[in-house]
Amino acid sequence: MRLESVWETDGDFNRAFYLEDSSGEVIREFEDYPTLDQLRNAEKQEQERLILTNLGIPCANCTSEITDRFAADPRGNLLCWDCAVTTDHSTEAGIRVNTDPSEATVSSSQLHKKSLCDHVLNVATGCRHGCKFCYVPTTPGYETRKKLLNKQVGVDDRQQEWGSYLLYRDDVPERLHTELTTGSGLQLEETNRGRGVVMLSSGTDPYQDRRAAQISRGVIHELTSHGIPVRVLTRSSIVVQDVDLLLEAGDAVKVGTSIPSFDREIVNALEPSAPPPLTRWQTLDMLQLEGVSVFISMSPTYPTMDEHGLHRLLTRAIALRPSVVFHEPINPRGQNFEMMVEALEDAGLSDAANEFHRLQDPHEWVEYALKHLNWVQQKTRELDGPPVHSWPDRDLLKATKGELRDQLAAMRRAPSPESFTEEQPPEHAEAHSPLFESYEEIEHLVVPEI
Ligand code: SF4
Ligand SMILES: [Zn+2]
Repeated sequence: MRLESVWETDGDFNRAFYLEDSSGEVIREFEDYPTLDQLRNAEKQEQERLILTNLGIPCANCTSEITDRFAADPRGNLLCWDCAVTTDHSTEAGIRVNTDPSEATVSSSQLHKKSLCDHVLNVATGCRHGCKFCYVPTTPGYETRKKLLNKQVGVDDRQQEWGSYLLYRDDVPERLHTELTTGSGLQLEETNRGRGVVMLSSGTDPYQDRRAAQISRGVIHELTSHGIPVRVLTRSSIVVQDVDLLLEAGDAVKVGTSIPSFDREIVNALEPSAPPPLTRWQTLDMLQLEGVSVFISMSPTYPTMDEHGLHRLLTRAIALRPSVVFHEPINPRGQNFEMMVEALEDAGLSDAANEFHRLQDPHEWVEYALKHLNWVQQKTRELDGPPVHSWPDRDLLKATKGELRDQLAAMRRAPSPESFTEEQPPEHAEAHSPLFESYEEIEHLVVPEI
């Protein structure tokens, strides 16, 4: 498939673009300024990548040919880099939108500690979902980009304004293509728990809207076609539109979602703009029925859930036949936790707010966290479910001793039991097993002076 440009002489000189298949037959026609959306849509329908910097497409603003970096304007017109970085932000449905000028594509990540990935690629800066507990705007990457956020989308307080700004990285697939195909290619380090996986995304939802999904599709295609395994984490159902690509990538790609609870009221208070948990479940269900390998992240499970609540959550998770269920209890460290309590109060859920608030007492938190970890492991055994990969917090290790601490440490060290690109899955470590029969049995191993 290739894009041909042809000068047409109909009185005026006009240029038109045609997409041709490998036999030279025209399969699609464009105007003289094809939009980014039209081109990405053509790629998707023809199931082939177009490298937009090699096609002689003119900038919709200054008409110079796009040969390097590019982005779209608010109406989707393709702009050269000079025009893109001098365009003001627009506001769409209450979200300030512009272009992210940063250069990074794939970045290394500490998420190998959770056995999620070794690298991350974010298709945007900011996230429409604006979850109340999101740690992303407090990360050092955002601290160093204060000025940029202010200049590009007028952000004064990146945390308070989280969910109301979004900077797309439209040309990441093209830049990644160059990195993967020139010189010695992209050299990515690999750890035994991260296994060289690139995650989309740790700092934004890769399928939060059509434009982000178009970038994600190109990125997944580039990575998996160069043998690099990918983990997609999204709350959005748009991901099902890429089922063709996900199936083609086989077990080199895993798609998962976060479902901390099916309690609509609480989830809605904490993740106000994200699709509800049932929609996320249905999205994964559609994908797994098609044959895509899926995973679930029950992260973090709420203190409002008792043993029966976790049982119900796990039963639904298991019904999706995931390759793994990741689980972690909530951690009440930091400003984000207070924002969660406030969000629950604002939503009139004062009982739930009190339950969360109680976790600020270290004794209460340690007991809750240990019980949740234990119940989830116990229930999955009873239900003969898929492996549950638990993420005990480091502070939980500090608050325990003896065998209990050793077992929690082993859980933290173990690799997740998934297999990527036909490699043998790691043994599901014995570490991931119930911690105790009854809490009284291990109380003497708890020292919550943290
Ligand atoms: S979806 Fe993820 S990145 Fe987006 S706001 Fe929620 S937690 Fe943050
Ligand atoms: Zn231009």
